Amino acid sequence: MPVPSYLWAPPQPAAVAVQHSDALFPVHRLFFVGRNYLAHASEMGRPVDPRRDRPFYFTKSPSALLASGSSAPYPQATSNYQHEIELVVALGEGGAEVAPEEAHRLVYGYACGLDMTRRDLQMAAREQGKPWDTAKDCEHSAVLSPIAAMPGVVLERGRIELRVDGTTRQDSDLASMIWGVRELIADLSRLYHLRAGDLIYTGTPEGVGAVRAGQRIEGSIEGVGSIALELRNAV
Ligand code: MN
Repeated sequence: MPVPSYLWAPPQPAAVAVQHSDALFPVHRLFFVGRNYLAHASEMGRPVDPRRDRPFYFTKSPSALLASGSSAPYPQATSNYQHEIELVVALGEGGAEVAPEEAHRLVYGYACGLDMTRRDLQMAAREQGKPWDTAKDCEHSAVLSPIAAMPGVVLERGRIELRVDGTTRQDSDLASMIWGVRELIADLSRLYHLRAGDLIYTGTPEGVGAVRAGQRIEGSIEGVGSIALELRNAV
């Protein structure tokens, strides 16, 4: 096969670190669950009724990924940039129409994620029935810790917490997720042919809030790891 020539250097493949390994996890797609904790859905003014409602999703570009421990400039076009800490499921196998009781087979491991959000743009889009892309898929907005490999494991509980400059903002437990890891993988696999390298950010608990340039976000998920992000002045 001829070696292709490019007009300029193509982007590096998106990849994230794996704990206790030199090998990187190559990233395919980034999926996000919209509302997966009752108290967060209520604080957003859109309560969820688990008997009637189904999960919903949005995506970010792999180019929005940022490794934990980095600093990022405060983004453009917002004055309300908010933190959302989330359990992230990293898939090591693919599948479509996966049954919940088979969903653990797709799990490679877990990471801590930050779904950073331009909340002012999201609220404006929501009011007007417009897509969330510019609110959610902005540069450096998908922060990710190194992945903890635990193939086939389904996490069902564990403390999830986030601090800004040392002050606790979010403090909950994975047991409060409305739809668990099995249900989310099964449900998403009815919409997409899931593949190894897909990441699922499983939604944030209550306590989301704004951060400013100069502030430091730190968080952790019990049994998974920790995450940090520092915001610089806008460029
Ligand atoms: Mn989120």
